[in-house]
Amino acid sequence: MSVYGTGVVFGIQMIGLLMGQSRAIVAGATLNPKDQMALHRGLMQQFITQGAKLSINPIQQVQKDALESGVEASRYDGLLADPDFKKREQNLFLVALNFLSLHERCHFGLDHGSKIDSILKQPVASQAIARHKLELDADKCAMDIINADEEGFAASPISYFGLLMTVTTQVIVSYASPESSSHPSTRTRLAEAQTRVLQFVSAKQGPGTEKYKGTIEGVGAYMADMIDFADANRAPRSKER
Ligand SMILES: [Zn+2]
Repeated sequence: MSVYGTGVVFGIQMIGLLMGQSRAIVAGATLNPKDQMALHRGLMQQFITQGAKLSINPIQQVQKDALESGVEASRYDGLLADPDFKKREQNLFLVALNFLSLHERCHFGLDHGSKIDSILKQPVASQAIARHKLELDADKCAMDIINADEEGFAASPISYFGLLMTVTTQVIVSYASPESSSHPSTRTRLAEAQTRVLQFVSAKQGPGTEKYKGTIEGVGAYMADMIDFADANRAPRSKER
């Protein structure tokens, strides 16, 4: 994902999947109130089980799944044309991009390049933990920047959604092993992020606080299930490669 020193590379597949996830989450809330994550679950499961090809078009996949679930084409098209829908979809996508960019920006801002140089001089056995800490620090830094930005609005847990979407996308698109030497496990990243955002939301008690906490815990549990599903399907894919 990241390149130290010269710049940062984001894969087009990754950006496409973030767009598809935003659409699936926002459309799913309207189209299927009883199972709001059904469209998102369908999209992610398709991605996880497609193997190494990664040839699915996420935006088309969301439409296909919606129509197959019984949504009328005219209703789907009408939703996409609704200005409120567009605004919410864009917001979610931009928060994910913002998190992605700020995470990388934080590596630079926290001078991780030189920290990695010194970590690489340590005994190999202790390198992984030190590098994982840099990733978790970059996540925390990115969330804090987004949360500070949100403060003037509603203290909403939107930074957490940015992280969730980014982290789960990385797991699926990057073929990363569950715990590579440079990146901590996804579960650790999600757990630390959840703790952080719950602290943030609790510190800003307001009318939405309890609702936000419920949302954070519910979506966090849902994403943890997604990671379990990805792990269970990882073995066959690594054989393909
Ligand atoms: Zn990183």
